[in-house]
Parts: sequence; structure tokens; C-alpha cells
Amino acid sequence: MKPDEPLDLDSLIACPVCDLLHTDAVIPVGSQARCHRCHTVLMTPRSQAMTHIVMLATTSLILMVAAVFFPFLDVTAAGLERHSSVMDTILAFSTGLLMPLSFAVAALIVVLPTLRLVAILYTVTPMAIAYKPWPHAKAAFRLAESLQPWSMAEIFIVGVAVALVKIGGLATLKLGPAFWAFAALVIVTALKDTFMCKLTVWKTLEHRSPR
Ligand SMILES: [Zn+2]
Repeated sequence: MKPDEPLDLDSLIACPVCDLLHTDAVIPVGSQARCHRCHTVLMTPRSQAMTHIVMLATTSLILMVAAVFFPFLDVTAAGLERHSSVMDTILAFSTGLLMPLSFAVAALIVVLPTLRLVAILYTVTPMAIAYKPWPHAKAAFRLAESLQPWSMAEIFIVGVAVALVKIGGLATLKLGPAFWAFAALVIVTALKDTFMCKLTVWKTLEHRSPR
């Protein structure tokens, strides 16, 4: 690139990890583009990627409903048995001093991940079925990206596992269907995030949006 040539910003891609600039190029389907400096994957175009993202995100949403409303845990101690779902747990702390905690739990493990899935579906579904994205699709996808660090279903599962080991000695525990739904949700979400090449989604959005 000559020094006094004006930069065409649309033809540059910054590495999301180290900010090194790369010139945009067409990457063949099935191959990967990596950062020169830190080898972070920049683009991995796949065929049918949009359809796969829609299917995985829909699966995640269904699992989320099961994870929240189905029984999560059966605890038996001294002849007493108690079933509880994630919803019961959130509602149990919804009064008094622990209310902020209950709000935070509900937001981090249920509301934000659900909002993120809905935003991704809103962005990608129209492009997978028809060609053109819906209005405000860019804003929706930006929201989905900004919510990613705040979606903490997997941390919840780790926390539950630690708690179960501690309670295990005091009471008889039986894991309910919601626990497995949560575990599946974590795996499906990880799969979807691996499948979803953000740069490709952004480029498709740019390309297909009306100017
Ligand atoms: Zn890099």
C-alpha cells in the first residue's frame, strides 16, 4: 500500500484479539482465514452456515424453556422431599434483602442469554430463509455480540456442580430433566458460537442491507 493513498476502510479487517489490520479477501467456503500475528481465526465461511445457526439457536431457546421450568433438583433429607426448578429458586429469593441477587441470577442465566438468542435469530433467520435482512438487523446483531460476555449459563452449571458436591453428603439428590437441559444448552450454545463466523454474518449483513 502506498503511503499517501487514501485508506479504504471497508477493505480492512481488524483482528478482534490483537487489532492487527488485514486486507479483506474472498475466503473459499470450508477454509479459514487467521490473523498473521496471533493466529486468531478471522473468518471461516461454511456452506449452509446461516441455516445451521438458525437451527442451533432455536434448539437453544427450546432447551432454555425446559431448563427454567422443568424440575432441576429433587432433594430428599430426613424423609422430606422437595422438587425445585430454576424458576422456583429465582422466586424464592424475590423478597427482602436477597432481591438484587435474585434479579442478577435471573438476568445472567435466563434473561440475557434468551435476549441474545432472540437477537441472533432475528438477524440470521430472514437471511437464511429469504435473502434480505429485516430492518434494524445490524442493531440486533450488535446487541447479540455485546451480550455474549454476560451470558453465564455455563458458569451456573459449574456453580451448581460445586454446590451439589457439598450438599451430597447431607441429603439424597436426584438431578431433574432441567439439569440435563441446561447441560445440553451449554453444549449447543458453544457449538452455535463456533459455527457462527461473526465476520461472515457482518459482511453478509452489509452486503444485503439496502444502502
Ligand atoms: Zn491477531
